[in-house]
Amino acid sequence: MNIITRDFATALKLRQAAPAEILPLQEELLRRHLTQAVKAPFYRERLAALGLQPALATLAGLASLPLTSRYDLERDPAAFLAEPPEQQADLALTSGSTGEPILVPYTAGDLDRLAFNEQLNFWGAGIRAHDRILLCVTLDRCFVAGLAYYQGLVKLGATAIRSGPGQPARQWELIERLKPTGLVGVPSFLLKMALYGEEQGLAPRSRGIKSLVTIGEPVRRGDGSLTPLGRELEEAWGGKVFSNHGATEMETAFSECTAGCGGHVHPELMLAEIIDEAGQVLPPGQPGELVVTPLGVEGLPLLRFRTGDIARLHVEPCVCGWHTPRLGAVEGRLAQRLKVSGTTLYPEMIFQLLQELPEVTGSYLEVRSSYDLSDEINVVVGVVNPADQVTTARIAELLQARLRVRPQVTPLDPNRVQATMEQGGGRKLKRFFDLRGELKK
Ligand SMILES: [Zn+2]
Repeated sequence: MNIITRDFATALKLRQAAPAEILPLQEELLRRHLTQAVKAPFYRERLAALGLQPALATLAGLASLPLTSRYDLERDPAAFLAEPPEQQADLALTSGSTGEPILVPYTAGDLDRLAFNEQLNFWGAGIRAHDRILLCVTLDRCFVAGLAYYQGLVKLGATAIRSGPGQPARQWELIERLKPTGLVGVPSFLLKMALYGEEQGLAPRSRGIKSLVTIGEPVRRGDGSLTPLGRELEEAWGGKVFSNHGATEMETAFSECTAGCGGHVHPELMLAEIIDEAGQVLPPGQPGELVVTPLGVEGLPLLRFRTGDIARLHVEPCVCGWHTPRLGAVEGRLAQRLKVSGTTLYPEMIFQLLQELPEVTGSYLEVRSSYDLSDEINVVVGVVNPADQVTTARIAELLQARLRVRPQVTPLDPNRVQATMEQGGGRKLKRFFDLRGELKK
């Protein structure tokens, strides 16, 4: 079976094949990937030091290959480039939610690979040629995901509507006029659109929106259940949520199928591993840091890249009929791990609890170090009446009951909370202020 051509019919067949049939193909892809990676100075030096010949690499030996950290990439991004500038077709920048944005040049082959990736993702989400998808995401500003969705839909034969982000009123004009059957966007914005539609009497539930493909914010928990945001989104539109998880430098996205139990790892595009704090590969089902080797990338081929995302891999066959492994929801970011009274917490756990409280409009965390080396968390919440101590106490009690630690809760006017989250002007709202290492004020 030739999986190098990215032929769609072959790819669909491959997903139903037994793992034993897929592994030899992946091994060949790994060898080709390493052959490409050693064109970049960083990997040429690393692999030469190990005496490793790309053509002899094995999947079994993957765990003995060196890990690549975000710090390696940030320190000298040029050392990761495997193709000369004339091969670069598109220059993307990472979203910069952690550190400075990194330049990721895509070759024409990389763009085609990404289109194939999203073609598979949309297919897995039940989207077909007759579907029309409203893309409520950024398609410019060096942002690659929007472009990938667009190309994937075109490749699938479906119809793309390039709306762009923001402005619910304008989105609704397109919904009324062009009648999309699915939406792609950041979940909190898609919810805002639905609420706007309800206020205007536009009946979002009767619009025939079947698929809600979401990016950027989690809509599921590690156990696969929907977060309050995910649940509200499905109820508001009467459609089904499909979480799409990717990253610019990963050049690959995982996407949920109709079974909604993790994002399928595409075997011809990605090797995914989960490691513990010591860098040891963990067995399936255990949470740890996601490490990716995106196969077939030409411009900036990464090897065992540490994403900093905490998640689990599931390897049992999926009820959708595909046998490929699935990546569970991202349960937190390694850099944002909090230690409080011996308990490990991630900010996302707190944000998801706050979503259950209709009186909270916007929230962010400030974390400082305390003298006993545990983290002191201040949960800043937007509430209509910040002076109302009953509300504040109720929020603190909910957090304590569910997290088993009692963080400080600071109520503020929702506009002030929003303004703080918008600081920095990035594509994403800033919701985590890490003041550990700074003196306590
Ligand atoms: Zn599935």
